[in-house]
Amino acid sequence: MGHKGVLVVVSGFSGAGKGTVMKELVDRYGNYALSVSMTTRKMRPGETEGVSYFFVDRSVFEQTIAQDGLIEYASYCGNYYGTPKRWVQEQLDSGKDVILEIEMQGALKVREKFPEALLLFVMPPSAEELMRRLTARGTESKEVILRRMERAVQESEGIENYDYIVMNDKLEDCVAQMHAMIAMAHNRPEQKREFIAGMRAQLGALVKGEK
Ligand code: 5GP
Repeated sequence: MGHKGVLVVVSGFSGAGKGTVMKELVDRYGNYALSVSMTTRKMRPGETEGVSYFFVDRSVFEQTIAQDGLIEYASYCGNYYGTPKRWVQEQLDSGKDVILEIEMQGALKVREKFPEALLLFVMPPSAEELMRRLTARGTESKEVILRRMERAVQESEGIENYDYIVMNDKLEDCVAQMHAMIAMAHNRPEQKREFIAGMRAQLGALVKGEK
């Protein structure tokens, strides 16, 4: 019986520190597979093709949509971002827990397609701290930072659609909490369908045998 992994969606305001949290989670614990998205955004200094993202132009992105190659996609601050379908499915089938670090529109589409997905929202300790982290990154113009803060205002309205909030104050604690939440999701009935079906069949057979 192939044990299927949990599909985990992680969202959070731009600058909330999701990237750092994800990296630490994957480094510290085994069995996580981090999905690499496709985007039309320009590569930032320090990013790597095929690791940070698959960087493509609009025509390639739109072609991938047409071929039904994405689980979900969304437009965010003027660029397309999407999750390649095949790799995610393969990893889940092999029993890995797959993490999608995506924004809210995409997260809600994933929930429609995979109701058993675990949706986590990473929160900075305060709005001021968020602004500070976005500015400290130093890779974006004032205008881009402002657009991302405005987006955070919008996204703050949808937080209740998530299963759990993860506070990102101390990195260590945040990562440990997230790991615990994912571990718990393995015990949800949706994640144990085959086991439940097997139990029902065995119970039925045993009861029948006793009659
Ligand atoms: P950034 O440009 O800062 O790397 O990402 C901008 C936003 O796009 C972040 O909130 C990030 O989580 C989100 N994002 C990254 N990949 C995807 C994706 O495949 N689908 C969706 N819907 N959002 C994504």
